[in-house]
Amino acid sequence: MDPTLTVLLYSSLAAAAAALGVLPLVGRTQVPKVWIGWANAIAGGLMLGSAHALSGAGVELGPFSVAAGALLGVAFTYGTHRVSDTEDLDLNRLADTDPTYGSKVLLTSFLHSASEGVAIGVAMVINLPFGIFVALAIAVHNIPEATVLCAVLRGRGVGLGTAAGLAMAMNSGQVLLAVTVFAVLSAAPAAVPPVIGFAVGTLVYLVLVELIPESYREAGPTTIAVLTSLTMGVLILLHGGLS
Ligand SMILES: [Zn+2]
Repeated sequence: MDPTLTVLLYSSLAAAAAALGVLPLVGRTQVPKVWIGWANAIAGGLMLGSAHALSGAGVELGPFSVAAGALLGVAFTYGTHRVSDTEDLDLNRLADTDPTYGSKVLLTSFLHSASEGVAIGVAMVINLPFGIFVALAIAVHNIPEATVLCAVLRGRGVGLGTAAGLAMAMNSGQVLLAVTVFAVLSAAPAAVPPVIGFAVGTLVYLVLVELIPESYREAGPTTIAVLTSLTMGVLILLHGGLS
């Protein structure tokens, strides 16, 4: 198969997996709050595990370029939060009826998943099996992240089908960025180490600023710490076992 088609296929699979996030809401109008905390912890653990795998590959290619790229990733994500006025936005307000809250949550979700598209794209350039591994990890992580998004949307009266559709649509940027980053880096391999760094910095920053803070409130710090660490550890072990 053409490598670009492989990137398109697996990043599309990751985006489509988000639709499964609506399943915990089938047959109920809302999920228990503690599930929101667990969902964030599992998604965060998978993002941290992916960042760990990427940084391992990056250190071999050029640690200083990776570090510079990571700083840029953090600065870029902070900047997008500032510009979109979503800095410190609480993403778990299930019963919020503020008219602007829903659109801000959707925008944050779109920007978040687009950054993960960079991670998929650069991992695919390192080598396709590694890229497929990262894409599948992001696919699984899209499910609990979509559950949180769907719970917020359901709290605002959005139907199940529409919520699932919006969850997938918010991951369209993931596909676009994965394919674009893969194409650009295939033509300019010198940029691979800083882009690895950019992906790592972005993943870690997003976990710390978007996923973890509110989940402490929903499920308690100990549960969140254990669940995040365990999920990250399982992904690192899987990566070690497969490579
Ligand atoms: Zn994520």
